[in-house]
Amino acid sequence: MRVEDFSAADRRLLIPQPREGLAYRCLGCRKLFDIGRLLYTCPECGSVLLLEDGRPAWADKRRSARSWRRAFDLRRALNLPALKGIFLFHEFIAPPIPLEAVVYLGEGHTPQVAANSHLAALAGGPFWFKNDGQNPSASFKDRGMACALSYINYLVRERGLRQVLSVCASTGDTSASAALYSSYLSGAVASAVLLPRGKVTPQQLAQPLGAGARVFELPGVFDDCMKVVEHLAETCDVALLNSKNAWRILGQESYSYEVAQGFDYDLGGLAVVLPIGNAGNITAVMSGFLKLYKAGVIDSLPKVIGVQSRHADPVFRYYLQPEGKRVFRPVTVQPSVAQAAMIGNPVSMPRVARLAEEYDRLSGERRVFVVRVSEQEIMDWMLTANRYGHVACTQGGESLAGLVAARKEGVVGKDEAAVVDSTAHHLKFVGFQQMYYEDSFPPEFGIRPKKRLQNRPEEVVPKGLRRLPEPGRPLPPEEMKAFVASCAGEIAKRLGLKKR
Ligand SMILES: *Cc1c(COP(=O)(O)O)cnc(C)c1O
Ligand SMILES: [Zn+2]
Repeated sequence: MRVEDFSAADRRLLIPQPREGLAYRCLGCRKLFDIGRLLYTCPECGSVLLLEDGRPAWADKRRSARSWRRAFDLRRALNLPALKGIFLFHEFIAPPIPLEAVVYLGEGHTPQVAANSHLAALAGGPFWFKNDGQNPSASFKDRGMACALSYINYLVRERGLRQVLSVCASTGDTSASAALYSSYLSGAVASAVLLPRGKVTPQQLAQPLGAGARVFELPGVFDDCMKVVEHLAETCDVALLNSKNAWRILGQESYSYEVAQGFDYDLGGLAVVLPIGNAGNITAVMSGFLKLYKAGVIDSLPKVIGVQSRHADPVFRYYLQPEGKRVFRPVTVQPSVAQAAMIGNPVSMPRVARLAEEYDRLSGERRVFVVRVSEQEIMDWMLTANRYGHVACTQGGESLAGLVAARKEGVVGKDEAAVVDSTAHHLKFVGFQQMYYEDSFPPEFGIRPKKRLQNRPEEVVPKGLRRLPEPGRPLPPEEMKAFVASCAGEIAKRLGLKKR
């Protein structure tokens, strides 16, 4: 529908007006900084920042919660590209950005698919997969990148920013997304990405190469690349696109807004389960639900369950410690199939600690939890989900394994439903499936394939034929007939088919 097709009253809700008020808030010294330039850490104390809305439209008491819901729901019918993706929730994400600066590549509004009933029974209760692999670069990172690049585009268009070089360190998906969104603004923005050599999949490596980024492979793991890129951001004129960049967090809040919309804003008895790597995503998910709750758009905060592998579990270990005495200690990571979350020193840890505290306080009880799963559980649940019609990446398998663990521990009750974040597309990580099928995991992973979950192609070689078909050399009709009969006979035999 076009704007003119809506009633006069609804038209006032439809098109957001740009609005000042956002500022960087330092989580260390609590000082505020102007958004006129790119900042990643506090210029005074070096702590991480969040973007805070000083006078949020959503806290305006004259505007009812019902009118927000109506605005979001009407926008789904509106045919305006800038409001089709994450900026459908413009007032809750980045209000200063004018719609003309919005970069929309088709991100967001990912399917929320009810779990097959057999799979739900195996996992201990009903749940939905939210398939964030169905984003333009096939991971949720596009939500944050759409926001960060829209902000950069705004600086280019309205504040005279020129010749931006975007940089990031990545476990694979950040670089795929950063390179794609930067290339959409090519002319104004070029990109460079830093990857730990051999620690991203071939598919993930292909993505920034295809988008024309300069790709640098470094020795070590992600945490080492992050140190290098932080040094670059502190000493050179570059735009850092890691989740240290608070604009990315804003964009990723759209996940929470969509979950709320997907349940018609009734989130009672719901848990949202997601993997934790650098902890940007769980920061965004908590922040998003908090904003909706403060605006009255939802009237209860869903549980948030973060999941970590035993091979990269610093956040889990942090929350094992007694409240009030927690000290964060980075860990040295071990190889993990949830490679995109294989991070020992998450940049957003101070954000998580602060937001989880507020989340629990406003809920009046503990509602943020972190559970831990094994590499074996991650692979088994990923493959099991696929057997029931769901496509989950290894991190999605980690989420599902985390839901099962949370139900076992009583963190999620039998009658509570869950949304399980499948954060990327399965095909990016298909090499791990292959290793499972071939039983070729290096011993460090500690994964023993289960026979019932393995699968492999079966070759069919027809017997007693003089020649076989080859590309460009079809068989003569009689030989073709024999070929078809022989192959079909062999397949029917293996499948135990009966003749009609
Ligand atoms: C980045 C990423 C994660 C981890 O998210 P963080 O924000 O780093 O905690 C999980 N899964 C996938 C597929 C990712 O790309
Ligand atoms: Zn500070």
